[in-house]
Amino acid sequence: MALRSLTTAQRTALDDGIQLVRQAIGAFALDRVRVYSASEQVPCSHGFYSPLSGDVAAHADILLNRFRLLGTPLHEAAHRVTHRGSGRWLPSRDYADRCRGFE
Ligand SMILES: [Zn+2]
Repeated sequence: MALRSLTTAQRTALDDGIQLVRQAIGAFALDRVRVYSASEQVPCSHGFYSPLSGDVAAHADILLNRFRLLGTPLHEAAHRVTHRGSGRWLPSRDYADRCRGFE
């Protein structure tokens, strides 16, 4: 879904979440973050990481929940940083989730 279709409060919440994750891990932790609402086939329940583009996507529902607002981008950033290394760590092909319970 287009970011412009979010309410101001939702966009502010998303920006806050992204900023906090970048401050905690580093600017490389997240690049583009997309928001989706329809059910897509995704490996993570509240968001997913796209290894080809490096993009992260989050379900619109996380914008209503302060815990998930940070936890989901942080979780997906961990996939991204593990996969890409981001110049600080060695990239790893083993960036997938260990189990569904971890989600
Ligand atoms: Zn995951």
